[in-house]
Amino acid sequence: MRRIYLDHAATTPVHPQVAEAMAPYFSKDFGNPSTLYSYGREAKGALEEARAKVARLIGAKQPEEIVFTSGGTEADNFALCGIAWANQKKGNHIITTSIEHHAVINVCKFLEKRGFKVTYLPVDKNGLVDSLEVTKAITDETILVSVMHANNEIGTVEPIEEIAEIVKEKRIYFHTDAVQAVGHLSINVDKMKADLLAMSAHKLYGPKGVGALYIRRGTKIVPFLYGGEQENKRRASTENIAGIVGFGEACSLAQKDMAEEEKSLTYLRDKLIEGILNSIKNSRLNGHPKKRLPGNVNVSVEGVEGESMLLNLDLAGVCASSGSACTSSILEPSHVLTAIGISPEVAHSSLRFTLGKENNEEDVNYVLKVLPEIVEKLRSMSPIYQKEK
Ligand code: PLP
Repeated sequence: MRRIYLDHAATTPVHPQVAEAMAPYFSKDFGNPSTLYSYGREAKGALEEARAKVARLIGAKQPEEIVFTSGGTEADNFALCGIAWANQKKGNHIITTSIEHHAVINVCKFLEKRGFKVTYLPVDKNGLVDSLEVTKAITDETILVSVMHANNEIGTVEPIEEIAEIVKEKRIYFHTDAVQAVGHLSINVDKMKADLLAMSAHKLYGPKGVGALYIRRGTKIVPFLYGGEQENKRRASTENIAGIVGFGEACSLAQKDMAEEEKSLTYLRDKLIEGILNSIKNSRLNGHPKKRLPGNVNVSVEGVEGESMLLNLDLAGVCASSGSACTSSILEPSHVLTAIGISPEVAHSSLRFTLGKENNEEDVNYVLKVLPEIVEKLRSMSPIYQKEK
């Protein structure tokens, strides 16, 4: 049976060129970059080359501003805790949004238990943060503002530059979780005035278990992991060289392909959105119609459980998600969908398709053929939907 993968926001396949670049570091080039002999020096060379590639993709002036981590989650934890612990004498207030990934929200909840105050900014019906709300929330105690670049569930791209402008005017640190944006949208940390930016390799055709935090030179931050002196004493533990090399390669590939890919994915995305909304009665798009990630389609289909649609799509060979990968096994409605004003029932009837490199128009046409059939079948079995319509 044909299988179509449409869950690239959960993870992407490792690009063959990335896998090829990584391969030697599992076997013949196995050295520890902290050692002084040839194996170590070679590993160190590969590590620094990868650092330069990651830095280039996000416009970081100095490769040393990139600190490799075990993924996006650690990068977010490092940014928030590192700034909180290092700056608590200056203030104890953090501002974030109500639609962040749990890698930010749950760190904020932890910090609240440790005496920090956190403001969770609301968003509008499309998931956009209003920069005026940021201005209103800032107090003399504010030490950090953390706003995600693009949302993993609904794909909305936030006005990061506008928000950062306000934050930097007040000399407050600005962090952005750019895990879903890096490699897909053009990013320049200087232009967007970010002090900290979290990224993750497995969202841009790199391997899982490796990410990085960009830390602008001069930022007052303490480490999140203590131990050895790796990563310029900012992140202990022997570096995952194979993973980091793969991340570097993925960044170079993204830099080369991004513009072209953004165009083709946006075309496929809009075709899929339009097709679903036109062929399925009582369906709606979640997230901003235009300011959204090129590959993201998130829809709610009234009267049908997201899970039932997913299982039926899987039977038809289509892999999608009913929310974000991290929350799709939880029965609570998505905090992102409820934040944009959707009722818990409608939130439970939502589906996320995220397109990627390997998808084409045929894939979209296939989904547009099978999804309306699935919805019709499920609705005909639902006594509640039948009664209401
Ligand atoms: N932040 C966002 C916006 C994400 O989408 C994810 C993963 O889905 C993460 C953070 C966590 O990244 P990782 O899986 O590399 O820990």
